[in-house]
Amino acid sequence: MNNKKCHFCGNIHFSEKTVQYVYQRNKRFMIIDSVPCEECNYCGERYYDGLVIEKIENEFINIYDNHKKIKNQVLVPVESYLELA
Ligand SMILES: [Zn+2]
Repeated sequence: MNNKKCHFCGNIHFSEKTVQYVYQRNKRFMIIDSVPCEECNYCGERYYDGLVIEKIENEFINIYDNHKKIKNQVLVPVESYLELA
């Protein structure tokens, strides 16, 4: 993010971090831990390198299309806000 501004708030200061990333496509999900990104110090918007996203997409394809063995799984509750009390 050299010489770049946050697209959301215009801040120019970022921190390098590793975060959990939730990838979603066609109602299928994949959670990836320890993903490197740069986070805007002001608004928290996260920016990922194109190669990082490419790697994640490849893994998604490996798991869902090529039936790669899954390392860990979580059960995620799905609720509708309209039905919440
Ligand atoms: Zn920002």
